[in-house]
Amino acid sequence: MNRVRASAPQLAGLVPYDPKYLPARAFLSANENPRDVDAEVRELISRRIANVPLNRYPDPLANGLRDMIAEANGLDRSCVLLGNGGDELLFDLALAWGGPGRTCLNFPPTFSVYAANARLTNTAVVDIARREDFTIDEEATFERLAAGDIDYVVVASPNNPTGLRAPQDFLERLLDATDALVMVDEAYFEFSRSTVRPLLATHENLVILRTFSKAFSLAGVRLGYILANPGVINEFLKVRQPYSVDAVSQAVGEVVYEHRARFEPGIREIIEERGRVMEALRTTVGVRPYPSDSNWILFNMEDAGAAWASLYENGVLVRDFSATPLLEGCLRVTIGTPEQNDEFIRLLRAFVAERGQKRAQAARA
Ligand code: PMP
Repeated sequence: MNRVRASAPQLAGLVPYDPKYLPARAFLSANENPRDVDAEVRELISRRIANVPLNRYPDPLANGLRDMIAEANGLDRSCVLLGNGGDELLFDLALAWGGPGRTCLNFPPTFSVYAANARLTNTAVVDIARREDFTIDEEATFERLAAGDIDYVVVASPNNPTGLRAPQDFLERLLDATDALVMVDEAYFEFSRSTVRPLLATHENLVILRTFSKAFSLAGVRLGYILANPGVINEFLKVRQPYSVDAVSQAVGEVVYEHRARFEPGIREIIEERGRVMEALRTTVGVRPYPSDSNWILFNMEDAGAAWASLYENGVLVRDFSATPLLEGCLRVTIGTPEQNDEFIRLLRAFVAERGQKRAQAARA
């Protein structure tokens, strides 16, 4: 056959996820940790993976890592599940709690993967747009939940790409107000120093998502996990790919988690640098940064698309949201090393100054 019938109808018009990666000197576009694991940890990883049997299937549940995470969080192993990055677990969420005739609640602008997964699984999406300052419209949320037809809710805290975490009391009231499964996506919680984990003891409908990709410098390895009560974990077990977390990733994850205290100075540096970059943006003419609890800053400016291009031409890649609905005029810069941050600020200020000069010339002409 030299033709093929159409794919599933929900794929019509969908575009594959594009992280918008481009070669650059400074990658400040994907909210990664700017520093790789240190030499000593890398050496330990090399030694550990040298002994991983490659001819055998891995432990399907990554129980070694699962136990370490459970213990660190004061939970039983049955409350933890590993995945191939947080992304896999987000897809599993839509498979397990979504589907035809089911509905999820979403708070755009937020991580685009939530809506994409809903669409792939034929789940209806109810959007409650954030307010102008990107806080959640709490009144509208509770009003909509009262209808009783929402099957699951996803709240990123901190919210990517806007930056702030959701208020703890709002999350608690949300969990009280509905029997929908509420996923609190804490992919960046190490930078906000805030978690809803204590609420697991009292809320059967809470699931928390975490990742090794950010604070633990392992975006290349693909490891994420959820914390939830055993009944919820069991539903995820029904839909997940049995061997999604490969043996090498499990070994790497174990070494890194064992040595997680070593990442603390790097996390502290990112938090300090975030303050410095925020101040620099705040004092750059025409640039309006949004507050951030995470390892990036979203900011709004005139000619954002041109500013993105100018930064990129000079080797600094940031994320361009300037043409994204609800984020018009916005760019997002990941906090890098102090040197990368300095370069970003220098280039952005040079762009603003040059644009100002051109405008002044045009006005005189
Ligand atoms: N949640 C949010 C809010 C994210 O920004 C990301 C990464 N872009 C993820 C989850 C998934 O991360 P990973 O698959 O690398 O664990």
